[in-house]
Amino acid sequence: MALKPPELTYMEGESRCDYNWTTGEVVGTFLAALRDHGKMLAGVCESCGQVAVPPTSYCESCGSEVSDLREVGPRGVVMSWARVADDFEGAPAEAPFRYVLVRPAGADTELLHVAPDDDGIRIGATVRPEFRPREQRGGAITDIRWFVPDGAESEGS
Ligand SMILES: [Zn+2]
Repeated sequence: MALKPPELTYMEGESRCDYNWTTGEVVGTFLAALRDHGKMLAGVCESCGQVAVPPTSYCESCGSEVSDLREVGPRGVVMSWARVADDFEGAPAEAPFRYVLVRPAGADTELLHVAPDDDGIRIGATVRPEFRPREQRGGAITDIRWFVPDGAESEGS
C-alpha cells in the first residue's frame, strides 16, 4: 500500500501569552537601584575585571559569575547614536528622538537608551541620565527617561 502525503489544512490565528519574567538577583538589584535611588549599578567580574552595565549574572566577556555590583556614572559618553525621525508602534519615545549607546563613567560596556533629538547628542559627547520623578518609577530601565547632554537643563527643574 502506497502512502499518500496528507492534505494539509491551514488555519490563520493569533495567540497571545502574557507572562511574568523573573529578573534574578543581579538584574533585580540593578532595577531596584534605578527605582529607589536613581543610581546605575554595574556588574564587576573578579576574573577579567570587566565592569558591565547593565549587569548580568555571568560575565559576557569570560563567563565567570559576577558577584559584585558597583555604582557607575551618572555621567557617560556617547559611543554611538541613531536618529529616529518617525513614530512607530512601541517606540520608546515620541519621534523625533535618538537611540544612544552610552558608556557610563567607570563602566567598560555601553547601555542602549534614548535621547532627545538634540545636536548635543554626538559621538564623544558627555551626557547624563534624566530620571523620571520617584512616584513614576516602576523598577524598569525606563525609570531613566533618557540621556541629555551634560549641562542641559532638565524639564521641570
Ligand atoms: Zn569576566
